[in-house]
Amino acid sequence: MSASNHASAFVPPATDADGRKNLVGLSREELEAEMLAVGLEKFRARQLWHWIYHRGSTDFAEMTTLAKPVREKLADLYIVARPTVVKDLKSADGTRKWLLRMPDGQEVESVHIPEEDRGTLCVSSQVGCTLTCRFCHTGTQRLVRNLDSAEIVAQVMLARDMLGEWPAPPDGRMLSNIVMMGMGEPLFNYDNVAKALKIVMDGDGISISKRRITLSTSGVVPMMERCGEELNVNLAVSLHAVTDELRDIIMPINRKYPLRDLMEACRNYPGLSNARRITFEYVMLKGINDTPADARALVKLLEGIPAKINLIPFNEWPGAPYERSTARAIQVFGDIVNNAGYASPVRTPRGEDIMAACGQLKSASLRLTAAERAAIANVIAEKDAALAS
Ligand code: SAH
Ligand code: SF4
Repeated sequence: MSASNHASAFVPPATDADGRKNLVGLSREELEAEMLAVGLEKFRARQLWHWIYHRGSTDFAEMTTLAKPVREKLADLYIVARPTVVKDLKSADGTRKWLLRMPDGQEVESVHIPEEDRGTLCVSSQVGCTLTCRFCHTGTQRLVRNLDSAEIVAQVMLARDMLGEWPAPPDGRMLSNIVMMGMGEPLFNYDNVAKALKIVMDGDGISISKRRITLSTSGVVPMMERCGEELNVNLAVSLHAVTDELRDIIMPINRKYPLRDLMEACRNYPGLSNARRITFEYVMLKGINDTPADARALVKLLEGIPAKINLIPFNEWPGAPYERSTARAIQVFGDIVNNAGYASPVRTPRGEDIMAACGQLKSASLRLTAAERAAIANVIAEKDAALAS
């Protein structure tokens, strides 16, 4: 399965209204080739890289290490683009959510979660998601397309703009960590995600280390090894069920890549060790997957895999088919997993008041009518049919 047979074909506008090309999202090699192609020296790429990704500059006129005629030529031909911020919401707990509009009008959300010793940006990889996990709001969104590398990197750059963190600080304070846990399935858009993360990790620019980046997947088994080998970032796996019977229902991707294959791909994830564990995410759904027997089965399933378990109390959204497990059920579940030797922090929901918590992202604002509910049911049926094909 590849992204191409799920997300609609997408060619982002390569130029602005004046025909100028966006330099954000090009790899170093592409930037060098671009300079040579327009008759500039290759080393201009290194200079530009510093201004764009270390200083956060969007205006060639500011780039004073370049000679004036070079700056003028660059400004004629290129732009350093940012998406438009359509909404900037701040939760009572400090979490921020930005709704960003891309040049073609499509929208995605990024979420910034400040904590005492770090700040994490939750980045989206697609507009919507082609999958239809039953508990996830993003899965009900009809419009789906891949984000290109520029649009993924731009979410990080925009967060730095909003947090006032240029030049990129050596030990990022407010933006120190990245999780690919926003809208979309990153391993269905692997090429763009990989290109973007390489730019984000580059030590001469944004410089966020792979140890501070986590990619979360619903279990796109054929892409997991490549992701580990090429990017070597931390892996999180959305598990959420311990039997194929249940996982087939709540995460339809399981019909394609069942638990056995998923666990094997986890065991083989490159670079795993006790110091470098896979995080298994487990959303606590009342009466669905939250019994002590489920907890014991989870421990058994993960045997031999260096693992952490993240228990996520279900976050509600309008029309959601499930409820959050009781605090007691979560505690009993967590104790069983803990006693088996796994760290299993319960994730405190952040930004619920602005619909920024896990699984609540969806770019269109929502107040569901019965007709819309029926339309969502249709979307789910269509996507399921696509998955089965
Ligand atoms: N598509 C990727 C990345 C999204 S990560 C993936 O599924 O892994 C977002 C995390 O939040 C995933 O673990 C997802 O399963 C979980 N999630 C989705 N909906 C949720 C909800 N309503 N409440 C709590 N967690 C949810
Ligand atoms: Fe997509 Fe992840 Fe939501 Fe599933 S949980 S629908 S894979 S974003």
